[in-house]
Amino acid sequence: MIERANARLVRILDQLETPAAAWSHLARAFLLALVFLLAPLSHAVHPATRTLVILHTNDTHAHTLPDGRGVGGYAAISGYLKGVKAQRSDVLVLDAGDMITGTPVSTLYEGMPVFDILNTLPIDCAVLGNHEFDHGWQKIAGFRRLARFPILCANVFSPTGELLGDAPTFFTTVNGIRIGVIGVTAPDLYAITATRGHQGLTVQDQVVAVRRHLPDVRQRADLVIVLSHCGVGQDLRLAREVPDIDVIVGGHSHTQLDQPELVGKTIVVQAKCYSEYVGRLDLVVDVPGRRVAEYGGRLVRMDGRIGPPDPTTAAVVEKYERDLRRTLDAVVGRTDAALDKAALVRAFEAIFAQKYDADFGHYQPGGNRATLSPGRITKRNVYEMLPFDNAMVVVEVTAEQLATLFNKQAPEGKRGPFRVATVDFYADRMVESGRLAEEQVTRYPAQARAVVLEHVQRTGGLAP
Ligand SMILES: [Zn+2]
Repeated sequence: MIERANARLVRILDQLETPAAAWSHLARAFLLALVFLLAPLSHAVHPATRTLVILHTNDTHAHTLPDGRGVGGYAAISGYLKGVKAQRSDVLVLDAGDMITGTPVSTLYEGMPVFDILNTLPIDCAVLGNHEFDHGWQKIAGFRRLARFPILCANVFSPTGELLGDAPTFFTTVNGIRIGVIGVTAPDLYAITATRGHQGLTVQDQVVAVRRHLPDVRQRADLVIVLSHCGVGQDLRLAREVPDIDVIVGGHSHTQLDQPELVGKTIVVQAKCYSEYVGRLDLVVDVPGRRVAEYGGRLVRMDGRIGPPDPTTAAVVEKYERDLRRTLDAVVGRTDAALDKAALVRAFEAIFAQKYDADFGHYQPGGNRATLSPGRITKRNVYEMLPFDNAMVVVEVTAEQLATLFNKQAPEGKRGPFRVATVDFYADRMVESGRLAEEQVTRYPAQARAVVLEHVQRTGGLAP
C-alpha cells in the first residue's frame, strides 16, 4: 500500500511541473519530505514492486532545432532526458524510429548528422523507421556504425537473409527490472519507400516477428516492450493478437496519445512527432508477478518550462547548422505572393511539364512539406518544400490511365498517348502494383528538387 501511495505522490509531484497546478512551494516541500520518508519504508514492505520511467520519442524527423514557437529540438529533448536521469536511476529511454528526413540537414548529408547528434542523448535503444531506408537500405549499415545505441529491427531482411538492424531484440536491467525489447518496422515498407529503399528486401508482418521472439524474451525478462514503427492502428492490432506484451512504444502515425491506450493488459503509447514531445510512462512493476501493477502516462511538451537545453547536444546541432547556413542561405529568387501547398504543387507540375516537354506535370501535396511567404526564396526554402530525394521520370499513358492514375482529364479531341512528367516515387508505386508497365516509364537522373531549384534560379522566382 505504501508503495502505491508513494507512486501516487510521485505522480502528483510530476504534475507540479505544469504551470496550471496551483500548488504552493510549501505543499511541494511537504510532499517531497513525505516521499523521502516513505521511500525506504516502501522497499522494506514491498520489495517485489519496483518503479520504471520510460521516456520515449518517435518521428523526430531530423527536427534538430526548435520550431518557430521555440518548441522542440534535440537539445531540448536531451536536456529533459538528462534532467530526469540525474534525479532518478529507474529511467529507460527509447526512440521508435523515423529519426531522419524532414529538414535540410538530414537531406543534404543523407541522414548521418542526425545520428551524430543523437549520440549526445542518453538513448538506450531505437528501432528502424521506414524513413531510415530513404537513402537506400544499404546506407543503414552506416547509421548503425555511427550510432552508439543499438537500432533494432526484427522483421526486415536483406537479400541474403540478414536482419537489417543491429539486433531483433535488446535486453537491459533497470532498477532491478529485467527488460526485454523487440523492435519492429512498418510492414508496408514496400508501399511507402522509393525503390532504392526496399529493393530485394523481405518484410515480415510485425505480428509474426513478435510472436517468434516473444517466448525467449518473456523467459528472460520481467517486462516485455515492443518498440514499434508500425503506426498506432497496427499497434492496437498487435496488442489484440499478441496479448502477452506489457508495453508498446509506438511511432509512424505521428499520433498524439495524451493518455496511453490500454488493450487487455497492454499499454500503448506514442508521442506525436517532429521533436515537439517526449512521452513519459511511469510504471510500478510487480517483478515476481512479471506484470505492470500501476501505470500513468502523459506527453511532456519540449518548451521553455522543462529546463535548459543540453549544451553538448546544442553544440553538435550548431556545428551542422553552420555548414548548412553557408550552403542554404543563398537567395535564389523571390515571390511576390504567398504560396500555399496547392499553389506550390501547381507550380511544380508546370515546371516538370515544361522541363521534360510533357503534356502534364504531376506532383502530390504530401510530397511538399512547406509553404512560401512573400519575399526572398532561399535554397533552404526549396529543400524544405522538397525534402525527399526523388528523381524525375516521364510516363507515357493512355487517356484512361491519365484519369485513373493521375486524376487528370485528356484535352478535348485528343486521344493520347500523353506524356506525364513526375517523380519516380509515384511511378514506382504504380509499376509495383501492376497499374503501369515499366516500359511506359523513362527515367532521368535529375532530382525533382534540382529541377525546381534550377527553374527558380533561371526565372528569378516561382509562379503558381
Ligand atoms: Zn514512419
